[in-house]
Amino acid sequence: MIGNVTLYTNRRDKVTIAPLPEGFAIEPTFDSYGRRINYLRISLTDACNLRCVYCMPEDMQFRPRHELMSDEELLYLVKIAASLGVTKIRLTGGEPTIRPGIVELVRAIAATPGIQDLAMTTNGILLDKLARPLAQAGLKRVNISIDTLDPEKFHRITRWGHLEDVWRGIQAAEAAGLTPIKLNAVIVRHFNDGQDMIDLAQLTVENDWEVRFIEMMPFGEVSDFQQTNVVTYAEMKQRIEAHFGPLEEVGYDFIDPSRPFRIRGAKGTVGFISSVTEPFCQGCGRVRLTADGKLRLCLLREDEVDLLTPLRAGASWEELRALMRDGAYHKPWGHELSAGKFAQNRAMNQIGG
Ligand code: SAM
Ligand code: SF4
Repeated sequence: MIGNVTLYTNRRDKVTIAPLPEGFAIEPTFDSYGRRINYLRISLTDACNLRCVYCMPEDMQFRPRHELMSDEELLYLVKIAASLGVTKIRLTGGEPTIRPGIVELVRAIAATPGIQDLAMTTNGILLDKLARPLAQAGLKRVNISIDTLDPEKFHRITRWGHLEDVWRGIQAAEAAGLTPIKLNAVIVRHFNDGQDMIDLAQLTVENDWEVRFIEMMPFGEVSDFQQTNVVTYAEMKQRIEAHFGPLEEVGYDFIDPSRPFRIRGAKGTVGFISSVTEPFCQGCGRVRLTADGKLRLCLLREDEVDLLTPLRAGASWEELRALMRDGAYHKPWGHELSAGKFAQNRAMNQIGG
């Protein structure tokens, strides 16, 4: 034991976290379907410097800071996850780069025993300045969201964003070695489901990037918009093939949510994330940690286990470990979108994608 870690969170009162074992054993964790749970996605904040139409309403209210995990709380839960066999972590949000102290937080997560892969999903706006320090701190890769190459449309879909900032961010990420670069585009009907998709796919011809087209998923308050405007994987693929000819299969591992293909002769790949119409639950070893400290067992289901409340109430390492392990064991098989059921309790920015 290294003694109790006393810390001051953003709350006014003092919180004492239970002792951390000195070095911890790592045991693999499986859910009740035999899937190995080895991937944790952490939402560092629900706040964002953009307001994408498919993600949140423009007047979105964010949680007060005292409801979010402090760095110390988050690192404690990361160590517990690592002790349960989590080897891969993705930082997301809201927008992860706006979290104060992000570089030091990345450094501490990257140094956690057992964590082999640390990636981030970001809108890229702040990467121009942050890519290099993040890479030096131990971040390995980034997925950058960019739904169109048309500056005016980009501003409309993100409500507040400027395309040139993201473009600079992509260049900075590549220069910093945060590779392979993956670009995420959520496709919205009558908005970016035409020439925008072609322009984005064209980027892979000259660049060794993966451009991933994502089916829009329904959540909470913006679910009507999302359901009405979803473009299916089959439609997206057909549209790309109508322009570039048949896509070549690259080999799908059923672990990465994106199915990769290649435009003939291209350096990079085009991927499709078909969460709505062709889910990929059989290979899913992911669980999520929301910024307010809940273990979310499936992106598209409401099931969550509160870890932050017991942590703040003084639960021991073993008690928290048991909560996380049992939660992971009860991970649901998959979502129920085809039965018309979708998660209402959070918007996408509160989960992290
Ligand atoms: N702010 C960062 C970003 O935009 O990359 C990270 C958080 S964002 C919630 C993570 C990913 O979810 C982004 O690629 C975003 O485009 C995607 N996303 C947001 N709302 C979505 C929705 N309703 N359906 C599908 N993907 C969505
Ligand atoms: Fe912000 Fe990402 Fe949501 Fe866009 S998708 S509003 S960038 S959290």
